[in-house]
Amino acid sequence: MASIVGGIAASHTPTIGFAFDRDKRNDPAWTPVFAAFDPVREWLEQRRPDVLFFVYNDHVTSFFFDHYSAFALGTGERWEVADEGGGARDLPAVEGDPAFAAHLARSLVADEFDLSFFQGRALDHGVFSPLSMLSRHDAAGWPVRIVPLQVGVLQFPIPTARRCYRLGQALRRAIESYPEDLRVALVATGGLSHQVHGERAGFNNTAWDERFLDLYENDPERLCGMTHAELAELGGVEGAEVIMWLVMRGALSANVRRLHRAYTLPSMTGIATAIYEDLAGEPSVSELARLREHADRQLQGVERLSGSYPFTIERSVAAYRLNKFLHSLVEPDFRAAFLADPEALFERARLSEVERDLVRRRDWIGLIRYGVIFFMLEKLGAVIGVSNLHIYAAMRGQSLEEFQKTRNAQVMYSVAGKDAGRLAWDREAPAADAAAAPPDVSRPPS
Ligand code: FE
Repeated sequence: MASIVGGIAASHTPTIGFAFDRDKRNDPAWTPVFAAFDPVREWLEQRRPDVLFFVYNDHVTSFFFDHYSAFALGTGERWEVADEGGGARDLPAVEGDPAFAAHLARSLVADEFDLSFFQGRALDHGVFSPLSMLSRHDAAGWPVRIVPLQVGVLQFPIPTARRCYRLGQALRRAIESYPEDLRVALVATGGLSHQVHGERAGFNNTAWDERFLDLYENDPERLCGMTHAELAELGGVEGAEVIMWLVMRGALSANVRRLHRAYTLPSMTGIATAIYEDLAGEPSVSELARLREHADRQLQGVERLSGSYPFTIERSVAAYRLNKFLHSLVEPDFRAAFLADPEALFERARLSEVERDLVRRRDWIGLIRYGVIFFMLEKLGAVIGVSNLHIYAAMRGQSLEEFQKTRNAQVMYSVAGKDAGRLAWDREAPAADAAAAPPDVSRPPS
């Protein structure tokens, strides 16, 4: 089973990454920052977790307000470093852990935390500022994998402090019920007191930061009851991101042992680091069995539905590149390029030979089995002039006519819009070519 080896709290200011990249260790102005992180790195080197569960917020780098969510769990295979304006920092990408993330997702959603999920998005200083200090790395990569949890703390309403704490409690159940042996360290990032906007920019409150650290350790319940306005008054509006720390605190028991705590205020933000180990025991065998059953319950038995491929996180991660490629067909320029020279686009998207072959042959059932979601198939159909009914028939291994007989009305349709022009299979179309035989989609195009 997976186990939580402990929790790390760390601020995630850009200054930390700046100090690291420019090797300011011997500059007296920056020394306290390195001193705050050194014991945490040493603890990680001793405890050697396999995975860091990283609670952070993106700073409108990879997440924008076209779709802003409260809790977004990173399920991807690999995490690149984001470009925040002046080029990405010179750090290697870090591996993810999709299988573990998928289990956490099932368990948390079963506990009624309806998360959003992301992959293919770069992580900004919210992750890489502390990570570069916390873990040794070289061009080959990092000695640890990461599962990031992005908390939307920038556009109000944001989750309450208590909601974050409760998510942490559910997270603990999720981690401990993962059947693989995995050593997990929790990393909570953000804050402490700061405000970076408006006439109040530069606000800090060192006394509150120290009190916050005391309450965090000994009386998190009191923090859970605070409103965002109360947190902002004491710690600045952006300082209210410390609610993210409560995810980690909720995942530890009431009894924690603090191994380290440091605080420094070099510029705009109170930088704190701390390490906590949990004094609670392990869950019993029967509790673990119950938690696993709970996490997997919703799709239990679905495997008996032959010819069905529920679109799970595992499928989504495995076929991400191909789904993303086909999703690009919603863009007119990509559609035109696809029709003119698909091979060039395959190359640009670095599709594997298997993926190219599935698309070339319009192997509809093969695409589904590979992990492509049906709604990409209907987009591809719309672009190449194939109706939805052709696709349904081909997936079932039937002729269009055979499949049509199973319907109450023999109608044809697709999601093609005004750009598609006349559709060869549309018998209602007035044009002469409307009566042409529908394309045989069960065989490769000649
Ligand atoms: Fe932040």
